[in-house]
Amino acid sequence: MKDLLRPEIDTLAAYSLKEMPCRIKLNQNENPYELPATVKQEIVDLLAAERWSRYPPFVPRAQLDQLAAFTGWRADGVLLGNGSNDILQLLFACVLDKGRSVVISKPTFTLYTLLAQAVGAVVHDVPMLPGFRFDTEAIVQAAGRHTASMTVLCSPNNPTGTQLAAAEIERILDGTGGLVVVDEAYVQFAPYSVAGLLERHPRLVVLQTFSKAMGAAGLRFGYGLMAPSIAGRLNRVKLPYAVNTFTLIAAGVLMRRWVEVRGWIGTLNAERERVRAALATMPGITVYPSAANFLLLESQVMPPSQIFERLCADGILIRDVSGIPLLARALRVSIGTPEENNEFLGSMRRAL
Ligand code: PMP
Repeated sequence: MKDLLRPEIDTLAAYSLKEMPCRIKLNQNENPYELPATVKQEIVDLLAAERWSRYPPFVPRAQLDQLAAFTGWRADGVLLGNGSNDILQLLFACVLDKGRSVVISKPTFTLYTLLAQAVGAVVHDVPMLPGFRFDTEAIVQAAGRHTASMTVLCSPNNPTGTQLAAAEIERILDGTGGLVVVDEAYVQFAPYSVAGLLERHPRLVVLQTFSKAMGAAGLRFGYGLMAPSIAGRLNRVKLPYAVNTFTLIAAGVLMRRWVEVRGWIGTLNAERERVRAALATMPGITVYPSAANFLLLESQVMPPSQIFERLCADGILIRDVSGIPLLARALRVSIGTPEENNEFLGSMRRAL
């Protein structure tokens, strides 16, 4: 049975998540707020009026045009996916191969390495600098040394919260020859996006999602922004109808009514700063600045797994990331509602 699949697949460790019962869920960087009932109702009404027996439009023109307006990029350079993971997989499958290599700044979202290894590519890790800053020069050097087909950067970076400056992305684009993929899953929480660089840099691909700040992780809607020539070629391989009717309708309504909804970003960002300041006063805890809806903290005294367990006992689930290289002392916590954050902080104080 073993030889039925490619050998790379048999050696992979699956992307996994510890699912635990909890009262307060701060482990997946989800938005703690639900869309207003009137927005949900409009989506449900529109869906009820649709024909479910028919495929969605082959080219969802309305949503592509809305996204173009929403992101400031051209509609013929937008690819829609069933979550941004879908576009990541498409990119990795089309760009990488056995014998091709990819440079990944680490620590970061673990799915990149998994997807690269699944297609047999060689992964070259570039460790972040102290304070979890991107090592731009080391990234450029590694990409040159290995003639990397692709460089993957997550910005703001999961799980460190660090964002690359536009000038650093340009330095990496100018200093490398392959595709530069910037995963901006958390960008709506951050002060800027680098999508504005797409005009000048045809090797840049920017990925964004409705799963985080947009509050729609359950709907699975993500997209890639890129040069139309790349989008057109990736489209040859992309599965038709990857985004279903329900999601297309929901995404359309969400974009149209975004001004009514987006206020939660200010609340979550203010909460992030409040939680960070509170954590910074706790003995033995180091907390890092973040441009996303989560914080990375390190425990200098107690093992992170012990803090994780103590919070769990209080019904609070965060992410123990201490198994990831360079993060041996680290935990990641998503920003919840003010009440959830207070419970988290109270539980932390009791745990330490
Ligand atoms: N990129 C990053 C950096 C993420 O943290 C996540 C979610 N964990 C994703 C992509 C996946 O997003 P989506 O729900 O759009 O597939």
